[in-house]
Amino acid sequence: MTEINKTIEILKKTLITMPEDKDIRMHIASLQLSISNYEEAKDNFEYILKKYPEDIEALSGMGKCSFYLDDLSDTRIFLGKLLKLTDNKHAEANLYMAKAYITLNDIVNAREYYTRAVNQDTNLADDELRSKLYDIKNNSKDSQSTNSESFQNNDQDKIKLFSAGYEDEEDIINEDIYELRETITFSDVGGLDNLKETIKHKIIYPFKNPEVYQAYGKKAGGGILLYGPPGCGKTYIAKATAGECDASFIDIGINDVLDMWLGESEKKLHNIFDVARRKAPSIIFIDEIDALGGSRQASSYSSTKMLVNQLLSEMDGMDSVNDKMLIIGATNSPWFVDSALRRPGRFDRIIFVPPPDTPARIEILQIMTCDMKIARFDFKNIASKTNGFSGADIKALVNTASEDAINEAMKTGNIRELIEKDFLQAIKKIKPSTKEWFSTAKNYATYANQAGIYDEILEYLNKNPKFI
Ligand code: ADP
Repeated sequence: MTEINKTIEILKKTLITMPEDKDIRMHIASLQLSISNYEEAKDNFEYILKKYPEDIEALSGMGKCSFYLDDLSDTRIFLGKLLKLTDNKHAEANLYMAKAYITLNDIVNAREYYTRAVNQDTNLADDELRSKLYDIKNNSKDSQSTNSESFQNNDQDKIKLFSAGYEDEEDIINEDIYELRETITFSDVGGLDNLKETIKHKIIYPFKNPEVYQAYGKKAGGGILLYGPPGCGKTYIAKATAGECDASFIDIGINDVLDMWLGESEKKLHNIFDVARRKAPSIIFIDEIDALGGSRQASSYSSTKMLVNQLLSEMDGMDSVNDKMLIIGATNSPWFVDSALRRPGRFDRIIFVPPPDTPARIEILQIMTCDMKIARFDFKNIASKTNGFSGADIKALVNTASEDAINEAMKTGNIRELIEKDFLQAIKKIKPSTKEWFSTAKNYATYANQAGIYDEILEYLNKNPKFI
């Protein structure tokens, strides 16, 4: 028996007489974690969290154990909560989140967490991880770190309703915070014409004319699941859909819904639906819905299951005609979405959001640069060289392209126009993030395509054979 094991055994004996001693239990859990005994460590961290739900060390331990036990749902839940409590300032938690998102092939989120981790603690820089996240074609470490690592996914437009501070019921039903008519519409979304048509037919027309649809036995409201590679506009198009319907947009992050340790999550969810009903027409948007339980990465915690049940009962109780409410779920990993959520009457309309094709990339570039000082050139050449780029990658490309011009302007005071060359150089520094997603997706679409739900992925790959 090793020294560490001996110490653990002695401490365990002590714990028998004083099971509530937090320090001893934490010490045991940390030692168990250090010798990779993740199951037992996790049990001990969980025990502590039941009494001290906001203990940072225990949350961190839970997150790490969950990661090593391949439970990415719990990794995201516990580290997500820790980061919320620390205002994102926990370098290690950011690093583990980055690792979890890489495993989920969500490069966009992985980059954001990795950037934060390294900015907070440079010792956490990890070449292997970085090469998975960023283009290492040009092998120039410096230019990589100044450009790619400084890329922040600063979605200013991302509305966060349930940020810290809305914790009791009164705050939650304070309707002022829900005054959210979306201002973006389809004209802000580049390309994706087929998708817009599908959304018009499947969402907007029924939503605006529920009586017509009901007369012919069709459902108007209900649930829609958007899936596809990260950064390709699921959230963005959901917001634009709300804008097209002139509906309130209520954006729930998984951390908000899964704030289970406050023990209030079911009530919160109920309140959200209540407010949405009062603010109708409204769209509730739930991002990363796969984290609400599912197959391989299902949370082992009964509270998550309870939450899924609560969500299902809220959805089942929705009267679409009167409520004028729609729930849009989004996921990069539809294969992990709890099958109960996909049954008829729930998220039964499933829509694939593909990466932007060449004309779409031209439009996205035009939209993103329309307020910039830029020379007159068309984006055809740039678009042809950015196959596999997501909308978020294009955003990073535009940011990177303008960096040199900004640096120059700082030095010389001369604010020059951006030229094509700025973009061509930036392309070398950005790795298209969607290809990895397709290699995973292809396996599910080929071997686990129940009822043909992933046919669109296969169709996409057939049309783009060189894509992966
Ligand atoms: P997802 O939800 O699929 O992970 P997002 O909707 O958050 O991706 O997209 C990330 C960002 O990329 C958006 O905030 C937006 O700026 C940009 N983007 C993505 N797709 C488009 C698009 N088709 N047109 C314009 N911008 C887009």
